[in-house]
Amino acid sequence: MLLNFVFFFTSMIWVPIEIKKEGKLMKKKDLLFLLIPIAIIIAISSDEVLNLVQESYESFSINAEAKALTELKGEAKEAGHDDELQDDEFKESDVGFTDILVRRERLTQSYMDQIMKVVEEKIVYLTFDDGPTPVITNDILDILAEEGVEATFFVLGQHVEKFPHILQRIHEEGHIVGNHTYSHNYSKIYRSPDHYMEDLLMGEEAIKAVLGEDYELTLTRFPGGSFGGYKGAFRRRLIEEGYVYIDWNSLNGDSEKSSPSKEYLISRFKQTSRGKDVLVVLMHDGYGKSTTVETLPYIINYLKEEGYRFKPLPQYIETEIIKDLKIETSTY
Ligand SMILES: [Zn+2]
Repeated sequence: MLLNFVFFFTSMIWVPIEIKKEGKLMKKKDLLFLLIPIAIIIAISSDEVLNLVQESYESFSINAEAKALTELKGEAKEAGHDDELQDDEFKESDVGFTDILVRRERLTQSYMDQIMKVVEEKIVYLTFDDGPTPVITNDILDILAEEGVEATFFVLGQHVEKFPHILQRIHEEGHIVGNHTYSHNYSKIYRSPDHYMEDLLMGEEAIKAVLGEDYELTLTRFPGGSFGGYKGAFRRRLIEEGYVYIDWNSLNGDSEKSSPSKEYLISRFKQTSRGKDVLVVLMHDGYGKSTTVETLPYIINYLKEEGYRFKPLPQYIETEIIKDLKIETSTY
């Protein structure tokens, strides 16, 4: 890319020099001859800039999941269990820590496969984090009901305790609830995997106090996403405990600024959703997210016009692996 810019700027200097040297206006043909390569260079540079932007974005999104899994695979390999990663069937004997880790890794991978698999139709999973809050969540629920769309809410235990009736409404209107921890307090939860689990379980308790003990809460989302090397231990711990976590591959950028404009949210959404058949869209129903509410009808209609079908995230996966895991969990 750098080389292209060098070419581009060299051309920019060279053209006026050439024109001046001639001492007269250049012929149209000669000018065209100079402009075509410049146009090509600009086009290449732009593509590369786009790719770079996309790559850096994706490295912060759903691909982080793959990185986490690669790390886990590496550990399994070191422990001599890499062959099991290729097998569909696990051996029942010799169940040790790494076996359980590998099995749980498959749980997360299967979940991701289920979400991201390429199907004939385009699918969008709208997700709202950090609620429930009185005004914003209710407004979002009104819009979703009006549009006939189901979504997923990653809620905070501390808000659930304050507004249990809104959580109840989310559930009654057919949306799925996932656990986003109790406090969302980074300095507390990311102190250690133990601290994280403690907070996550507090969140779980708060949700179950409203929706019942049987409500499935395997599905979670890390505050700030699962990305980053330092979260490796947290990701592993979550998998060990039998949870699945999901990030996102599209967003409206409503947490990127303190008061983002409607135009900003729409452009971020279009920019991050372009060309993807399966979308997991990150938005927020926390306090003050009024522009998220204001732009939601536009975003939903845009997605409808683009041919997407709306679905809530699955709460769990029904596979042999998960059944197998439940047996192992009881002995772990
Ligand atoms: Zn959050």
